[in-house]
Amino acid sequence: MARVVAVANQKGGVAKTTTVHTVGAALAELGVEVLLVDLDPQACLTYSLGLDPEGVPLGIHDVLVGRNKAGEVVAPVGMLSLLPASIDLAGSEVHLLTRTGREYALTRALEPIAGRYDVVLIDCPPSLGILTINGLTAADEVIVPLQCETLSHRGVGQLLETIADVRAYTNSRLRIRGVVPTMFEARTRHARDVLDDVRLRYGLDVLEPAIPKSIRFAEAPAHGRSILEHAPRSAGANAYRALAQQLAGPA
Ligand code: ADP
Ligand code: MG
Repeated sequence: MARVVAVANQKGGVAKTTTVHTVGAALAELGVEVLLVDLDPQACLTYSLGLDPEGVPLGIHDVLVGRNKAGEVVAPVGMLSLLPASIDLAGSEVHLLTRTGREYALTRALEPIAGRYDVVLIDCPPSLGILTINGLTAADEVIVPLQCETLSHRGVGQLLETIADVRAYTNSRLRIRGVVPTMFEARTRHARDVLDDVRLRYGLDVLEPAIPKSIRFAEAPAHGRSILEHAPRSAGANAYRALAQQLAGPA
């Protein structure tokens, strides 16, 4: 059975999608069978893997509303598999809100195919709505990318409350693997202070190494590939490989 890892933070632009794509690619390099799930209606993960969200015939939306089985929707992309987002995904939120068992739509959808993969990585949208709740309910672990700058921790408390609710009501096995420091500027003392603050204030583990800030990340998605292929020997690529090694090991 696959280990299911949700990548969540309701703040946008903290590198959730980059982390899902790059950790997925790094795990695939290690020979791990990986399924990526694009749960964000903005479909950035689908796009960054080189697929056109307006052109994919079927997406995770079709699965969440019960029209199609996940197995019919999975698209192979290089060494990875992807449950893509199509432009319909925004409509899933509305649809799910009226349904009994709405928190479990993704859990149920993944059940029949989870056995084919070692790891499932879920890219959550930048909100704490029903799609993120679905991601957390389907997950064994959650990792929280955090940009190390002033006030970046402001939403963490709210995210932790949501995670506590999910544990209490829909998924008692969910555990927080830790915070992934992203866009890290090692030269500034400030970034370290932010991480210390997160450790102390929330009691969260901070996963090392931090992912350095680099223009290479912004360049990569335009080519439909991760930084591992775009700049294979860069510090950013190596940091994500080290993170993937850790995540591949025991929780
Ligand atoms: P999210 O999914 O949380 O909204 P993204 O993964 O889309 O965040 O990242 C937001 C932007 O930051 C993207 O343009 C991405 O290329 C860029 N980015 C991600 N990681 C880094 C990094 N380590 N250094 C510099 N830019 C980064
Ligand atoms: Mg994103």
